[in-house]
Amino acid sequence: MTPFSRLASAFSTLEATSSRTAMVATLSALLKSLDEDEVQSAVYLVQGRLGPQFDAPQFGFSEKLTTRALAEWSGRPVAEIERLYRTHGDHGLVAEKALRVEKTGRAAPLSTVEVYEALRALAEASGSGSVQGKINALVSLLRRATPEEAKYILRIPVGRMRLGVGDATIMDALAISRGDKTLRPVIERAYNLCSDLGLVARTLYSAGPKALAAFKVEVGRPVKMQFAERVKDIADIVRRMGKCAVEPKYDGFRCQVHKDGTGVRIFSRNQEDNTAMFPDIVRAVATQVKASRAILEGEALAYDAQTDTFFPFQVTVQRKRTHGIAEAEAAYPLRLNVFDLLYADRTDMTCEPYQKRRARIRTLLKAGAGLAPAPALVSGDADEITRYFETQIADGLEGIVAKRLDSPYEAGKRSFNWIKFKRAYHGALKDTLDLAIVGYFAGRGARAKLGIGAVLCAVYDAKSDRFRTLAKVASGQSDDAWIALRTRLEKHAVSHRPARVDSRIEPPYWVEPTLVVEVFADEITRSPVHTAGVGTDDEPTGFALRFPRIVRGVREDRQPEDATTEREVARLFGLQRRARSKA
Ligand code: AMP
Repeated sequence: MTPFSRLASAFSTLEATSSRTAMVATLSALLKSLDEDEVQSAVYLVQGRLGPQFDAPQFGFSEKLTTRALAEWSGRPVAEIERLYRTHGDHGLVAEKALRVEKTGRAAPLSTVEVYEALRALAEASGSGSVQGKINALVSLLRRATPEEAKYILRIPVGRMRLGVGDATIMDALAISRGDKTLRPVIERAYNLCSDLGLVARTLYSAGPKALAAFKVEVGRPVKMQFAERVKDIADIVRRMGKCAVEPKYDGFRCQVHKDGTGVRIFSRNQEDNTAMFPDIVRAVATQVKASRAILEGEALAYDAQTDTFFPFQVTVQRKRTHGIAEAEAAYPLRLNVFDLLYADRTDMTCEPYQKRRARIRTLLKAGAGLAPAPALVSGDADEITRYFETQIADGLEGIVAKRLDSPYEAGKRSFNWIKFKRAYHGALKDTLDLAIVGYFAGRGARAKLGIGAVLCAVYDAKSDRFRTLAKVASGQSDDAWIALRTRLEKHAVSHRPARVDSRIEPPYWVEPTLVVEVFADEITRSPVHTAGVGTDDEPTGFALRFPRIVRGVREDRQPEDATTEREVARLFGLQRRARSKA
């Protein structure tokens, strides 16, 4: 039975380090000391949650409630806790640094599983239990905690763990804790299929790597989605794929639909459960899918059945809310354009070739309003594909996605088995980039009152699990949007450079990579200021963006690891250079 104090002490070390190697070492040493009944809870706690993203219980703990719990625990007045909170900006730090309430001498040490279960019970009571009941439960847990333990116990309910440990780091550490780095691919594959790293860890510890290698997709567990690469022109698609299937590229919500008998759940590309947002699609799936169990994927868009047209993203996105769904549904019903099938009636379809999956979709779906198979043109002729692309643009869609006919569904991968080609924006750079924010700068002049003048943005490199900076972005948003962004960033602020961030710039405010913004720029240039691309083509200088601006604000459906990759930027830079030399 591992005491929670061991976790708390490892968490403190992790939080203080700026070296990823040191992080993996600390974490693997911690994991090594855990047994199969503890490792699952411990992995969730490292992730700052009590379960996988799609099933973690929500606390709904307000700042006020946490403040009251701290007051009761420490015997200090609420006003004093509020003052301390303003100074430290974090209830965890208030508990550890300012209050330092020692546990009573007789209290038994907390075990890892005990803390996890107590927090779970607290979360489950959050919805229904009385406020005082929740405070009592939290206080009785804190009474048994050391100040360092209290810091982390408090950070879970308020969702501010901020250890700076990404999933890739946890996977490396798990591999080392049970062997060596060669286990990483099998761990990653299982994680891509179930999106539950706690479950993967428990399976590894209790049944070994062979059991992980036998992992299959399951209805009810979101599968990490497949993504598309990009190319410079349509001829390049044909060169790489030959004859391929070309589908319209819809600009809406990517939905992974899980049907289990009469139950339907819809997951976002972030593996979040978004079922409540899409009552129309839930109904359509229940009546139009001729299989009792299935996993389908598609893009949901506001659709006008009368004119047979899709609405632009700005209309579709209105569905992204928690209230007024019924009104939004009545005004702009959605249609799911189904483009993939991962599971149907007891058969895992992910290893089947694209064409077989598509053929099964056609027999699986009944005609109806809310659900339809996405059309596809099968062609190896660049002129024909170009005409198809232009038809999509004329219909108000974003472009096309070409798919290799014999390719399996590659969970969690971005490869040239899917290639997207979008409508050209003006300028040399045709596409926007999704960049993770790693820091921000206070505003100057007219921007001073906003408290933010620019954000430091980074690309991601999965291989090294690093965020490398590419641009300082200072325009493209209204003042209100900047203020809203700053408020969100403050929640992820950290006192030093996060361990996974590579930067030559030292912004006044570092943030744990959490939020992703969509950025457009005139071109990619070489610049010594940033770290993205350093070493690419043996170049000591990195890449930068010329005139970058935020075009669509925070991309709620992206996690920082979904940001545009360093490799993509290097490729875009190459394409740009080639286009120039031809011109
Ligand atoms: P991007 O978000 O620009 O990386 O483009 C990939 C996204 O396009 C996917 O994540 C889907 O949400 C969306 N998409 C739209 N239509 C399709 C399609 N026919 N096949 C695959 N993805 C599509």
